[in-house]
Amino acid sequence: MRFSQVFLYTLRDVPADAEVRSHALLAQAGFIQKLMAGVYTYAPPMWRTLQKISQIVREELNAQGAQEAMLPILQPREIWEESGRWERYVRDGILFTLQDRKESDACLGPTHEEVVTTMVKRAVRSYKQLPLNLYQIQTKFRDEIRPRFGLMRGREFIMKDAYSFDVDAAGLDVAYAKMRVAYTNIFRRCGLNFTIVQADAGAIGGTGGSEEFMVDAATGEDAILVCRTSGYAANVEKATSRRPAVPSRGEPKPMRRESTPGIKTVEALHGMFPDILPGQMVKTVLYVATYADKLQDVAVMMRGDRDVNEVKLANHLGALAVKLAEEADVRRMTGADPGFAGPIGLRAGTRLLADGSTEGLRNFLCGANATGYHLLDVNIPRDLPQPELGDFDTAMAGDGCPISDGTLEVTRGIEVGHIFKLGTKYSEAMKATFIGEDGKDHPFVMGCYGIGVSRIAASAIEQNHDEKGMIWPLPIAPWHCEVVQVVFKDALQREIAEKLSTELEAAGVDVLYDDRNLSPGVKFGDADLIGLPYRITVGRDAAQGQVEFVERRTGATEKMSIEAAKQRMIDLVRATR
Ligand code: ATP
Ligand code: MG
Repeated sequence: MRFSQVFLYTLRDVPADAEVRSHALLAQAGFIQKLMAGVYTYAPPMWRTLQKISQIVREELNAQGAQEAMLPILQPREIWEESGRWERYVRDGILFTLQDRKESDACLGPTHEEVVTTMVKRAVRSYKQLPLNLYQIQTKFRDEIRPRFGLMRGREFIMKDAYSFDVDAAGLDVAYAKMRVAYTNIFRRCGLNFTIVQADAGAIGGTGGSEEFMVDAATGEDAILVCRTSGYAANVEKATSRRPAVPSRGEPKPMRRESTPGIKTVEALHGMFPDILPGQMVKTVLYVATYADKLQDVAVMMRGDRDVNEVKLANHLGALAVKLAEEADVRRMTGADPGFAGPIGLRAGTRLLADGSTEGLRNFLCGANATGYHLLDVNIPRDLPQPELGDFDTAMAGDGCPISDGTLEVTRGIEVGHIFKLGTKYSEAMKATFIGEDGKDHPFVMGCYGIGVSRIAASAIEQNHDEKGMIWPLPIAPWHCEVVQVVFKDALQREIAEKLSTELEAAGVDVLYDDRNLSPGVKFGDADLIGLPYRITVGRDAAQGQVEFVERRTGATEKMSIEAAKQRMIDLVRATR
């Protein structure tokens, strides 16, 4: 394609709201334009990349026996009522809802479990029709609280979502394993460095396992705990660890109340009582949990040097959400100013939980539920009965690996894919059953599998760029190479560049031919910014049949014959197939 005819207009400046390089570069190169918060137009070069990613996704899913379909974006409220998710998604604010002229409620699909389950339950009657795996590559809508980083977190974005239907858990295991293989191939082929991590099943829920595919990137929104010894890797939302032990404070001493005016944090308390380590204190963290039909006050006892993992807490409670208590909530639960909460003497009706880290602590320090006071030398069960124990602890770098004697490190990643074993959560709720070999009705055993197609494109640039611009991995580059004719007016250069481009295209190489009447400097600058993986420069030596072959990533430049450059490019592209 000729640059002069492509809708591709680079900008001089980076948009002011770009916080990460991928966003800045995609916008500056004219690949994306913001229409409103979290909503972007994809210019033709961007669309070429998105289609190449989609094609890789298709090939790998088809290879595992999945079938492509296309499900509606516009969905009726009824099916979301059946699954029980309407209220939760509306409350979360994630759902874009609307009404039609008859005032029926509908939404724009943020995900498609309801639609696909409806589709399958109406069509599939017998176990003989299973297993099934259906997918689509479709625009999704989520009214994200913080749309940002360009395509990374859009409110309108492209997702591949797949849904498997099996007769039993063993069938689901097979479907899940196949998707895991497909995903590994997809992200590898897209040229991404990624880690597979254990994940929380989140709002989509389900009973079985769940893993995320995380592109390694310092700007990633997800924290991941990894162990180099065992290979353990888990999203911080899910990770467990061995906590560092704290020295015991000896035999139980009598509990006493100390005046601690204005001393509200673990650090300040350690300052006042230097012989009590933060790990020998208990902080009582207060939350309000939201359920479909009520709010519930919750207090969590946590070792002073550790933090509450709110995802684990919400899962344990089976709550729709948990929110840190605000000042008024704190006063209601404790009768005191914030900073003095403790497990003894909380208002009745507050559900008290204790993290495993507090188990066995002796003579600990905690809040007294009275402004300006803490309790010292508190002991369970002498001073209060053992509260309900659970794992509410946030794993941290430096903790012990849960499955080896290694140490956890923290890295960051961008979630590009997520695979879940749903089980029968949706099929039961939506009465989606098939007749089994035994002649009885059984709910479908389901899995769901998402890939952020538009997020992959952004992640690829987040991982592959330099100060000059983007560096596209060859398999997803909008074009495989750019042919640059250096001097616009030079007829011989033009002839050679045109012929080379045509021949490359004929051999299956996607070429962007820069035929514009611009200075070489501008053309080279654009080539670096747009970041096609290879550039063939037709310049001064063209008369001698020589061109320059430039690798964008390394800048390595080689002079060679036109024929050799052509063959090199053809071979490179063939190797990706
Ligand atoms: P996140 O935790 O990043 O909000 P999620 O867990 O809600 O994502 P899923 O429901 O698992 O997302 O969606 C499947 C995939 O779709 C994700 O792995 C991610 O790659 C992509 N995705 C999700 N939300 C967005 C978004 N707002 N913009 C772009 N891609 C997204
Ligand atoms: Mg997810």
